[in-house]
This record gives sequence, structure tokens and C-alpha cells, in this order.
Amino acid sequence: MTAPRIEIDLSKIRQNTRCLVGHLGSRGITVTGVTKAVCGNPDIAQAMLEGGVIGIADARLRNVVRMRKAGIGCPITMIRTPMQSEVGQIIQCCEASYNTQMETITELAAAARRRGAVHNVVLVVEMGDMRDGLMPEDLEAFASQVAKLPGVALKGIAANFACLGGIAPGAEAMGMLSRMASEVEGSCGPFLELVSGGSSVNLPWALSAGTPGRINNLRLGEAILLGVEPLSGKPIEGLHTDAFALVAEVVETKPKPGSMPSSTFGSALKASGLVQDDDRRIRSILAIGQQDTDAGGLRFPSGVDFLGATSDHTVVDTTNSSFTVGNEMKLRMNYSALMRAMSAPDVAKIIFSEETLKGDVGIRLPRPRAALV
Ligand SMILES: *Cc1c(COP(=O)(O)O)cnc(C)c1O
Repeated sequence: MTAPRIEIDLSKIRQNTRCLVGHLGSRGITVTGVTKAVCGNPDIAQAMLEGGVIGIADARLRNVVRMRKAGIGCPITMIRTPMQSEVGQIIQCCEASYNTQMETITELAAAARRRGAVHNVVLVVEMGDMRDGLMPEDLEAFASQVAKLPGVALKGIAANFACLGGIAPGAEAMGMLSRMASEVEGSCGPFLELVSGGSSVNLPWALSAGTPGRINNLRLGEAILLGVEPLSGKPIEGLHTDAFALVAEVVETKPKPGSMPSSTFGSALKASGLVQDDDRRIRSILAIGQQDTDAGGLRFPSGVDFLGATSDHTVVDTTNSSFTVGNEMKLRMNYSALMRAMSAPDVAKIIFSEETLKGDVGIRLPRPRAALV
């Protein structure tokens, strides 16, 4: 089969979604599935929808267009403040967008009015991540301006945590977001349908015993896709951590010294016994590199140690394993490795789905359905 490739198990993504949707649902929190790390892959979006998410969110218009073209009809939210140059398409493809700039909201409203539509606006509040967001003291005045603007509807407020800053939110921050929701309603009228508390980093809070307050939504990517809690990297109980595998092919295997003895001194050193043949270790090269993934974010099979990577080669120590040229190696990816591999044109995306299994009683490995996506 073609290599490098990502093997994607849709049933694990569906099960992870179902598990998180169930746990959060019992606390009154809905889940929006975030597809930006998988480039808006429509099969993955569909698996999230089958797992019970209320909608999809993505940060790039190209991904949204890809999903729409593939027939994903659910509400899609743009979670990066739209560029002014793309407002027309945002109105066409997205039910809602996250916003922080009045100039942009004014453009969105005008574009929506031209189409006879109403676009939903979610205001992002700065709560310490110091990325995008309105300062909390500006929120009420800003919200009432949005509420008065024809062409847009104020749908809710949202916060980001630990995207840039690495600070995990706790009960205090969530309490503050809840209070802000109530204050905005008190001062400018409309009921805020959505109070979105954040991303996968909020799961420890959301699943803990305390009250969720007004928080009624989380936007989840990493937890659904990789089954881990982003800040600690720890697996989340009950979730699959192997929905994705990256497969690369070994193109060189040779015993080599740790470093090349210089040509002048090499033979003399060897003769003197300073460089010994048993210093040699088996190095293997995989035909995959930094252009295809984040090599530092890969986990290798046991007995294989990562030595380094360049744009097209990944060098590993295979002294303690039996890999040889032509073999395929199955690697696990962290979020950054996954994100880059999913967007790399030279990495094939192979979707496995349990539907292909139906009738094949007793066979555990589903057959691949689609090749290059
Ligand atoms: C990426 C992103 C998310 C999802 O983050 P995960 O860590 O993948 O759960 C949520 N909200 C916003 C605004 C994002 O950009």
C-alpha cells in the first residue's frame, strides 16, 4: 500500500465522540466537533456528527468549503475571527462566526443583509490566554452594539484557554464567564443561547463535580481525535488513543558509528582502538520528514529510538528491533504531528470504517474504503 499514509479508524472517532457527548450531556454541556486538525475531512466530520456533536467548527474557510462540497449540512461555526476579505463566503458557508472586531461584524452584517440572511455572532472574551478576545470590561458595550445591528444576531459568548498561554481554566474562570453571560443579557436584552467554555483543555473542569453554571458548550478537537487531555498529554479514560496511525517506509538500514571519524584521523583512531566497531549502531531512515509531519511529535514502536529529522528523512536507531529496508513502521502522532500530516499532500489518507466490516463476522481489521483524499 502507498506510504507514507495515515490510517484513520472512523469507528473509534465516533465512539470517542459518543463517550464525551454522553458525559458532558449529563452536565448540560453540548459538544461542537472541531475539524481544523484534520483539514475539515468530511468523513471525520460525519463520524463526529454520528457521535452526537451539535455542529462542527473550523478555523479555516477552505476546510469549511470542503465539508460543504462533500454534503456536510450541519451548522458550521468559524472559530477564527473572519478576515474582512472572506466575509461574503463566511455568510454563505457558516451559520455563525467567532468575532472580536466591530469593523468585521459590520461587514458580516452588510453581507448577510445583501443575501437576506441573518448571521450568528459569538463574541470571544479575553480570559488570560492573550490571543483573540475582547477585554471583559468592553464586552457589555460591544455586545449591545452587536445586538442592535441588523443582519447579525448575538448568539453567545466564548472563551479560549491554553491555546497560546498554556493556562488551564478552572472553576473561577468558568464562574466569571457565566457571570459575564448574565451581565450581557441584563444590559442588552437578548438571551445568550451559547456560552462556550473552551476546548479539550476544559475537560478536567467540565467533568469535575462542580456546577457548570451557564457554560453549556465545549469545542472539542484533540480529545475526540486523539483521546488525550492536551495539557498533560494523558489518555482520557474510556477513549481510544489509536484512531490515527501514521505509516512510513524504511528506505535505508545500516550500521553506522555515532559520528563520522574525520578522514585524517579516522583510520589512526581505529588502529589505536579509540573508535571501536561495537560503537556502531543500526540506523534506519524513514521516507517521511518535517515537510510531512512534526517528527518530534511522533511516537515510535518499542525498540526504536528517534535520532532526528530533516525535511524529507527521519532517522531512527533500530539496533534493538528488526526493521529492515522495505518494512513499514507504524507511528503514533501527537496533535501537532497529526495536524501537519493531515495537511501534507504526500501523505495519503486511508479511511477505515466499520460499515465495510458488516457481514465479515470474525474479521477484526476493517478494509480500507477510500485512498487519497
Ligand atoms: C482549535 C480550537 C479549539 C479546539 O481545540 P482542541 O484542543 O483541539 O480541543 C477550540 N476553540 C478554538 C477557538 C480553537 O481554535
